[in-house]
Amino acid sequence: MSDTSMLPGHPHIARHGTTLQVEGVALDALVREHGTPLFVYSKQWMLDALAAYQRGFAGRDALICYAMKANSSLGVLRVFAEAGCGFDIVSGGELARVLAAGAEPAKVIFSGVGKTRTEMRQALAAGIGCFNVESEAELDVLNEVALEQNRRAPVSVRINPNVDPKTHPYISTGLKGNKFGVAHDRALAVYRHAASLAGLQVVGIDCHIGSQITESSPYLDALDRILDLVQAIEAAGVPLHHIDFGGGLGIDYDGDTPPAADALWKQLFERLDARGFGDRRILIEPGRSLVGNAGLCVTEVLYTKPGEEKNFCIVDAAMNDLPRPAMYQAFHRIVPVAERPSLPATRYDVVGPVCESGDWLGRDRDLAVEAGDLLAVLSAGAYCMSMASNYNTRARAAEVLVSGATSTLIRRRETVDDQLRTEQAL
Ligand SMILES: *Cc1c(COP(=O)(O)O)cnc(C)c1O
Repeated sequence: MSDTSMLPGHPHIARHGTTLQVEGVALDALVREHGTPLFVYSKQWMLDALAAYQRGFAGRDALICYAMKANSSLGVLRVFAEAGCGFDIVSGGELARVLAAGAEPAKVIFSGVGKTRTEMRQALAAGIGCFNVESEAELDVLNEVALEQNRRAPVSVRINPNVDPKTHPYISTGLKGNKFGVAHDRALAVYRHAASLAGLQVVGIDCHIGSQITESSPYLDALDRILDLVQAIEAAGVPLHHIDFGGGLGIDYDGDTPPAADALWKQLFERLDARGFGDRRILIEPGRSLVGNAGLCVTEVLYTKPGEEKNFCIVDAAMNDLPRPAMYQAFHRIVPVAERPSLPATRYDVVGPVCESGDWLGRDRDLAVEAGDLLAVLSAGAYCMSMASNYNTRARAAEVLVSGATSTLIRRRETVDDQLRTEQAL
């Protein structure tokens, strides 16, 4: 009997008979092989998400730089490198990772407010495409480092356009009170300064207004403000080769309805065309929207624990694996891998074993489960494994990449020995 039903909003996750599958691979079989907690990613979801951007950019001069902090596992980076993507990095560690995954250095751009001289040297030596500089002080340091090496560092200045992305305060980055970027009012002066430094080559302008953005209007507002600046900066004699609009497009976690990437870019190009910038080279830095719904995390129910006010469903994944609920009160859908039609549902807080009350994965979820059952925490492709920690000396989970009927272990489960290797007891 084949009773197949796709999970709403998750085109590559479906119930086949009694078990959940990612593409053509059954989750219960993966768990028998690799244990739990286990991250499972759909390669096709990533490629489909990328294709939506590529459709939006058809016929344009554009480079999609995957913001790898969303998920920096080598196996995931390789998918995007093979698809011809560039990468947005935020540390020397990410530079090393992305080069190990086979990225072309010229397609790498380097963001972040606190680049060290060492990181700048590494990135210059690698020949990256652009430094997205976030302050006037950083411009001066980068200039010095480049002159030491007899190089010119390609730079964009990240502008803080002061628009409200209407998202969680911890993931809004383009407001005046945020630490990111250079204030819009200062931009022209900063560009004049950058153009005067012999170790720098001004190549573009950059902004990134936040994350999990589910409306087009903040992008359109930011675009207008950036284009006003491009006009002013070029009128002052500093040509800008590219415009980088950052990332931030949201995904559907809980019925969220962000614009599709191709629809968003149709709107943005209408505005660019109308203002005479349709031929300009465009860079973008999407992270979450390229991987977020590609992944889920399978976890085993360890105990169910009835309480006076709340019932707890204690699972073997925790805030160290899935930090978003603890960090941002974020919502992840949680569904059983195998449904139990005969068991009545109970309302649970789904929590992990970590010794923190903040260690919860979902609150007030109606689930028909018993100890030993498997749950899938959905929308776990972005900002989960890349934020995972060893808190409570918990080993980080294993990761599997699925493509069609094939599954590949792209990260083995960490061991305690892996964790102890860097330490010494005197
Ligand atoms: C995090 C980040 C991104 C990616 O954001 P998403 O919301 O994952 O698309 C892009 N650019 C910069 C500078 C970032 O810090």
